[in-house]
Amino acid sequence: MRSNIKLGKISGIEIGLHYSWFIIAALIVFSLGERLHQMSPSWSSLQNWIAALITAVLFFVSLLLHELAHSLVAQARGLKVKAITLFALGGVSQMQDDASDAKTEFWVAIAGPIASLIIGFGCLAVAPGLGWRRSPGPPTAVSAVLFWLGYINVSFAVFNLIPGFPLDGGRVLRAIVWAITKNADRSTRIAARVGQVVAFLFILDGIWQYFSGAGFGGLWIAFIGWFLMDAAKSSYAEVETTAALRGMRVSEVMSHDCVTVDRGMSLQDFVDVYLLKTGQRCFAVAGQGRLVGIITPREVGAVPRDRWDNTTVREAMRPLQELHIIAPDTPVLDALKLLVSNDVNQLPVVANGALQGMVSRSQLVQLLQVRSQLQLPAAYQSH
Ligand SMILES: [Zn+2]
Repeated sequence: MRSNIKLGKISGIEIGLHYSWFIIAALIVFSLGERLHQMSPSWSSLQNWIAALITAVLFFVSLLLHELAHSLVAQARGLKVKAITLFALGGVSQMQDDASDAKTEFWVAIAGPIASLIIGFGCLAVAPGLGWRRSPGPPTAVSAVLFWLGYINVSFAVFNLIPGFPLDGGRVLRAIVWAITKNADRSTRIAARVGQVVAFLFILDGIWQYFSGAGFGGLWIAFIGWFLMDAAKSSYAEVETTAALRGMRVSEVMSHDCVTVDRGMSLQDFVDVYLLKTGQRCFAVAGQGRLVGIITPREVGAVPRDRWDNTTVREAMRPLQELHIIAPDTPVLDALKLLVSNDVNQLPVVANGALQGMVSRSQLVQLLQVRSQLQLPAAYQSH
């Protein structure tokens, strides 16, 4: 989940909004505007919408506080947090690493719901003193905003405490299972399976409600279930991948058949002699025996064809400074993280300035496919 709109930084953490957040904001404004109108018919519709809008903005602030609670606890326990992104179903804190022990996982996970509960019950406690009452109405505007804000925050905390991965409650469950079994992978598998069951129940409930006349509300619940199902499945798959690749070094999996071309060659010669003859996608570019960059069809394609004759490979390549290079003894899992977080397809493996090989995404995917074809258990390590 990448943010589309950057809002600034808090404690070194980038705060951003995903477009889908506007869906939930609009939903809150409309459903709340409707409720407020029923409760206090004497308000003008402008008053109604302003109150609903203020509630949505304050809910945004409390969502941010929920995520900040996760992130600040994570930072306090030594984890690096890159960014917080708010989207349709809440927020995500992007951490550089996963928690390395059950205790950290537990406190990071529970911090968010605790923050939401404190905000929620705080608002609910203050609202009556400021004139909140259902009947005889109408309530004051300030108290109505506070009441709904409290109600939404408490509901949000309760929803997040459902013990299915990747919800906060699922992470809490994972931390508890982890503390008992001392096995991080197994605890994630269990929490992800529970998450899939919870998601399935959401979908069933949503469909049931839709057909018993709840209309849009039912579809919304089914949508949340579908989203949770997807997230639980991918976290399950991630554990399998992690377990399969753990302990492996880049030198064991890299391809050695990377062809080296000279930087002085023209692009036309490179295309004719190498690119169209070998079927390979990635070539190392060398100058005086040292790696100076790599060139793939992507770089060639960026140069107009009528200029291939008088452009050298060196001018078209991606220079070494722009590449993420790794050492042969880098763990494969770290290489995979680099591939994903930098959105590149291959990483040159370099030792003492010389190219040793290349690690690519497709290669790692194939590696995992072979394992699953042999139906090896995730914990199987080659001897
Ligand atoms: Zn949370």
